[in-house]
Amino acid sequence: MAEIINGKAIASKINEKVKSEIDKISASGGMIKLASLMVGKSKSSEIYVKMQRKTAELVGIEFVTSVLDEGVTQDEIIEAIEKLNAEETVTAIIVQNPLPEGIRHDKIISKISPGKDAEGLHPYNLGKILRREADILPCTPGAIMKMLRLQNIDLYGKEVVIIGDSPIVGKPLSLMMMNEMATTTVCNIATSERGDLSRHARGAEIIVVAVGKAEMVRGDWVSPGTIVIDVGINKTDKGIVGDVCFEEVLEKAAALTPVPGGVGPVTVSILMRNVLRAYKDQNVTA
Ligand code: NAD
Repeated sequence: MAEIINGKAIASKINEKVKSEIDKISASGGMIKLASLMVGKSKSSEIYVKMQRKTAELVGIEFVTSVLDEGVTQDEIIEAIEKLNAEETVTAIIVQNPLPEGIRHDKIISKISPGKDAEGLHPYNLGKILRREADILPCTPGAIMKMLRLQNIDLYGKEVVIIGDSPIVGKPLSLMMMNEMATTTVCNIATSERGDLSRHARGAEIIVVAVGKAEMVRGDWVSPGTIVIDVGINKTDKGIVGDVCFEEVLEKAAALTPVPGGVGPVTVSILMRNVLRAYKDQNVTA
């Protein structure tokens, strides 16, 4: 039976550490502010924003939101970002997903000043991962690396299989894994179409799945003793489930993250850590 990795407990640990640093900054008159920009109304965004606000308040970050009308143009969104870039009291900016149809998420993100990029998704910050210089990390990959570190897992030479190659999770995570000298395989929809997914998964010592397909990873895909990190969030008739069939994989894996209560809360904590790091970078005294 697998150990269930408690994301909420890990998130609390990170939050405590972030809070204690922010307390010191506040005591000496510093102010940290995260600006959230949302376009239109989306139920899922609203849930995430609520979680972000709660965590920000917990650690001592002021959380301000602006909501633009569903019908705004890409240029109008960029204009709003440029205003936040110029606003001295704003430490960092997050653009909430999803954006309306026709608005390019990558184009919008690249307009955030790299020093205010709360999610670590600006091309400059992503590029720094390649050079092992990244300080502000993409939140979900950053959360996964932190969770593995806290499990005392040495990635050196390990067979890691990442299922899903999105620019926010799978791709940056693959670079971080390579930086730790893991033998990294990245699978995508084409791997699935060729019927090769389960074969790759069976060869893994660590599986990370970020696809968005409920319970796709079955028990017989997982070799005994594997660490399984489930990033997926899927709404189903039986509630929120991950990309992993929890009951089946629990029997095979050495450790497994649950959904909810796994990667999700840690992702929000890494977002707060990024905001703190952005503040520190902006306030380096010569
Ligand atoms: P995405 O839609 O941008 O990318 C999905 C990826 O899965 C693509 O690389 C695609 O090639 C691949 N894919 C699609 N079908 C596949 C299949 N049958 N087999 C193998 N690969 C397949 O997704 P995303 O934004 O990375 O999100 C993935 C999931 O993770 C979603 O459920 C999302 O809600 C969740 N998510 C969770 C967190 C968190 O903090 N817990 C953060 C981000 C995303």
